[in-house]
Amino acid sequence: MRAETQILSGDVVSINMRILEIQRRYRDVIARELPAPVCAQLPATYILETVTLPFAPHLFREICLRLIPLLQESNPEADYVPLLSRLDDEILWQLAGAVQHSPEPDLAMALDLAVREVRIDKLPVPEADALRMLFLAALMPFFSAFARQQTGIDLSRWQQGWCPVCGQYPVNGFNRPQDGRRILGCWLCETQWAYTRFTCPVCGCRGKDGQLLLVPRGGDRRRRIQVCEECRHYLKITDCTQAGSGCDLQLENSATIHLDVLAQRQGYRPASHYRLLIQ
Ligand SMILES: [Zn+2]
Ligand SMILES: [Zn+2]
Repeated sequence: MRAETQILSGDVVSINMRILEIQRRYRDVIARELPAPVCAQLPATYILETVTLPFAPHLFREICLRLIPLLQESNPEADYVPLLSRLDDEILWQLAGAVQHSPEPDLAMALDLAVREVRIDKLPVPEADALRMLFLAALMPFFSAFARQQTGIDLSRWQQGWCPVCGQYPVNGFNRPQDGRRILGCWLCETQWAYTRFTCPVCGCRGKDGQLLLVPRGGDRRRRIQVCEECRHYLKITDCTQAGSGCDLQLENSATIHLDVLAQRQGYRPASHYRLLIQ
């Protein structure tokens, strides 16, 4: 109950917004400093399966230093400045490489494995979960900077449920204003693509039972949860058909944590970035 109260507090949403501001600022810095190869055709699986993600330890460290004070607002124990000073460039290169070449496709889990692989967990680490959150948040701008530069592919031809750039499954999406098509968004690199409305992006299950809608009682009825009874994953979908434009899916993800609580309370899991909000 305590965790839920914390999660639903306005403070956490506000911290998430400020984290996003830092991530986007650094996304632009990284795109300028680390030009990425531009792929010319749709990949067989996803682009970063075969292309190395541009990375720079000094930028990773800088992003961490900007994020630590924010994380400490909700968790004063999460002081990772001393730890960060012990991680030299070589270890950070190894960490980034281990994440990208992990056998585990889900990036949050790949990061858990990578932290163990490069033995950061052997250092005196307070609040190991918070450290993984910090590293994940600091890696995201490298992925979104890479994705931003992929202007050479026509995403209208992409027909998979996972992200064409980084391979992650989406956690949310929206129905766009012009034609109501369902646009899915990548939580990691911010790529967006249209995907068949009544098909589950995780297991490909179609039909009326494939995508049930859960609409929370009261509140904003434009924000819904689509659940798949076949694989028990859920997606948060915002109806923008009556709006002037689509929505910022990262902001929307932060603003709809109550939907995660509702879906997970009923036994459904997010398709990616798997972390139960309710223990
Ligand atoms: Zn992606
Ligand atoms: Zn499914």
